[in-house]
Amino acid sequence: MIAHPGSEVRVLIRSRPTANFAQELIEYLPDGQTVSVHQRKDSRKGVVNNQLSSWSFRLDGVLHDVSQEEVYGRVGRGVVLGALEGYNGTVMCFGQTGAGKTYTMTGATENYKQRGIIPRALQEVFHEVEQRSDHAFSVHLSFLEIYNETLVDLLASVRGCPGVGPGGMAVVEEAGGGVSVRGLSLHPVHSEEAALNLLFEGEMNRIIGAHALNKNSSRSHCILTVHIESRSRTLSDAKYVTSKLNLVDLAGSERLGKTGSEGQVLKEAMYINKSLSFLEQAILALADRRRDHVPFRQTKLTHALKDSLGGNCNTVLVANIYGEASQIEETLSTLRFASRMKCVQMDPVVNEHTDPVANRMGMSYDTLSETQVAEIQSQVRRYLEGSLDEINSQGSQGTVGVVEGHGFGVGLAVPSDRHIRLLSPGRTKAIKTKELARSQVESVNPVQRDREGREHDTQSQEPQGPQEPLRTDSPPPKAEAFEDFKAERGSEINRILKENKVVLLERRARLRELTECVNTAKREIDSTSTALHQWRDKRQSQGQFVSAEGVPVLDEAELSLTLRLRELKTQYRQQYEELRGTKAEVSYCQHLVDQCRTRLLTEFESWYNESFLLPEEVQAMLRSGGPIRPGLVPVYKALALHFERLRYELLADSPSAISFYNAQYRTVQRVSLVQTNTLSLWVMNE
Ligand code: ADP
Ligand code: MG
Repeated sequence: MIAHPGSEVRVLIRSRPTANFAQELIEYLPDGQTVSVHQRKDSRKGVVNNQLSSWSFRLDGVLHDVSQEEVYGRVGRGVVLGALEGYNGTVMCFGQTGAGKTYTMTGATENYKQRGIIPRALQEVFHEVEQRSDHAFSVHLSFLEIYNETLVDLLASVRGCPGVGPGGMAVVEEAGGGVSVRGLSLHPVHSEEAALNLLFEGEMNRIIGAHALNKNSSRSHCILTVHIESRSRTLSDAKYVTSKLNLVDLAGSERLGKTGSEGQVLKEAMYINKSLSFLEQAILALADRRRDHVPFRQTKLTHALKDSLGGNCNTVLVANIYGEASQIEETLSTLRFASRMKCVQMDPVVNEHTDPVANRMGMSYDTLSETQVAEIQSQVRRYLEGSLDEINSQGSQGTVGVVEGHGFGVGLAVPSDRHIRLLSPGRTKAIKTKELARSQVESVNPVQRDREGREHDTQSQEPQGPQEPLRTDSPPPKAEAFEDFKAERGSEINRILKENKVVLLERRARLRELTECVNTAKREIDSTSTALHQWRDKRQSQGQFVSAEGVPVLDEAELSLTLRLRELKTQYRQQYEELRGTKAEVSYCQHLVDQCRTRLLTEFESWYNESFLLPEEVQAMLRSGGPIRPGLVPVYKALALHFERLRYELLADSPSAISFYNAQYRTVQRVSLVQTNTLSLWVMNE
């Protein structure tokens, strides 16, 4: 589904499930592409009541009652595959808050099956990188949030991150028409798991930032960008292609009440309206071939996406709607926006570049003909299958060398993470292809470990409330309060946490099983291979068997050992594939569990502080959602206590959460310096 020249931006509707779907107002036509909306005319304007106005919108598809997997297939996959070929691409969700944008892009916390487009895209990218062994890929991630025209690096908390330079962050134009964000950290990633780690870190930072700043996270735009570069491993020319894959979760498009909003909310609404309407203008200007100026620079959002919207890249928009009668105005406005966006023409082009320094390995390579390349690849394959003993190059061209590349993945049983090059004669070092190939069949550690190398044990990680209360007069002991909290206010998140744990344990058990299988297969490969070699050595000493034509032939025992070895290797490869998938699932589920646990604790802490530790007057203000007057409570003292607690609990519970704590603490420190007047404490909105 990669766009072809002249095709249009694809726009799909997705409606979130609701018990009160407004059937009489929203109608999906059987063509799967058309939505009709009927709206009662407003009787206050003197029109007869119950008279209906109707609108019809024809788009590229309607996703109603559709699984996350299907959504990925219809929305994401084409753009992801295009990005691997060198086309920039953007998948963007828009619509009112609560319509399912984040569910579509990132997915739910509940379970693995409900993960959204972003985790699936990351999975596909790395899967493809492994499959396409004729190219060397390098993949980087960045994660940008735009809140009130301020750029925020959601991955700034990652260890080793250089930090923003003196000029701060800004969108800058590059030679050749591209744009980049100065000061935005770019993180090299070599596996799906590493990419997911970054995604979760960024999301956590988004939640924390929202929490600490008391801003609503649906009021910001988020752009996760996968930066891909690929070079042919078989052609030694200096060309390479790059692409950006932007996965965008836009701020809620609802118009906030024009009257009644004030302060921060008004400012947010203003910025969001401005950026969304410029987004529309930019896309419409792109659609108008007569216009040579597209107003990209008007807002940070459009500027940052300048090289990735419409025009020469693949763009897919998802219009998320909330199909309840009370939301019909917003639904209409989302559908109108969607149908305007559909007109934009695309003419995707590959971003091809030429490398001035052609030879990255510091060696000179002779160019191979396609036939030679094919022959070498086939030899390598046969070698790995056990049906070829030595890899030879053709004629006088030299010897096949296998050079370490900056490949991806670990312990692959296929030669996808190696460069295969022809070394010039004379420069060739004896490279033991056999050993290299054999070393690719590796043993696997039985249990998934976290980044610090510790094993997670979900059973024993039930969060424990600390024993002693913060104040000695009235508050109940925390451990007791925590139990109450889990049964009442925190029951939903506690339920999700428990469910996630069940899934996690299940996936872990499967991982252990698979690991066992893979290791058994590996042992069998080793012993069969040894037997084969011993047999050959023995036979060699007896002289060769030759056919009537003088061609060497295999005897029966050797043949059966060779076939067995091949079979074992195939089996090993399949099991290894599944193992890798399961590992990714385990690590994903682990993240979900960690995330739920952190949230449970954070919410408990807020609730406890709010309910027992703050003066009545402040409790009342918090309940009403209003900001706290400075000086009313020693806010910073309360914050300091809060974070001391949190740190204690997080570290005891899940040591890998230190970055979470650090990030949160940093954000709050920053906030308390900047926003002393509006700081409303750490009340979670949801
Ligand atoms: P938005 O990001 O647009 O504000 P969310 O993605 O947060 O909206 O969705 C609001 C709620 O609805 C969440 O609880 C989410 O899990 C749920 N939801 C949205 N879309 C779906 C869907 N297609 N299936 C199941 N739940 C959904
Ligand atoms: Mg959202």
